[in-house]
Amino acid sequence: MATALCPGSFDPVTNGHLDIIERTSRHFDDVIVAVIRNPQKTQSLFTLEERQEMLAEVLGHLGNVRIEFFKGLLVDFAKDHGAEAIVKGLRAVSDFDYEFQMAQMNQSLAGIDTFFISTSPQYSFLSSSLVREVARYGGDVTGMVPPSVATRLTDRFPEGGDAR
Ligand code: ADP
Repeated sequence: MATALCPGSFDPVTNGHLDIIERTSRHFDDVIVAVIRNPQKTQSLFTLEERQEMLAEVLGHLGNVRIEFFKGLLVDFAKDHGAEAIVKGLRAVSDFDYEFQMAQMNQSLAGIDTFFISTSPQYSFLSSSLVREVARYGGDVTGMVPPSVATRLTDRFPEGGDAR
């Protein structure tokens, strides 16, 4: 059984994340979507429970994908769960430096390989932080996030959010 981890903060899950997770699920027997409990980003919009609910809503059709939280080093979580691969999405050159460093560090810490999947072109410029920003000021996030996530964003920022 080959198990892969798709780590991230998923605040909230976007269509870009979904694309990467769906594609990962085709190549591995088991996929764990690992939601970071201790992100550097302290200003989260959704609670961990809300993020988990949104992920569960949109990943239900993938039978080999499950959602877990982790804290501490990703490689320790990987070892505890018998995962031998980390899969990350690469959007643009700007992702590369950081991801490359992390991949090398994880390889030297625990011998865990990182696989990169290039984003689908329509999601190249999509990030959770951008989605939060657009929603906060009342912009239309259709096409950026699944409909259930769009609804939660509209509920969170009613009547055009902070723009009014
Ligand atoms: P974000 O960077 O959007 O805040 P995360 O920190 O949750 O998201 O990122 C988790 C993983 O998902 C990272 O590997 C990141 O590169 C990847 N990812 C995020 N958005 C996209 C996207 N639009 N296309 C491909 N991969 C993505």
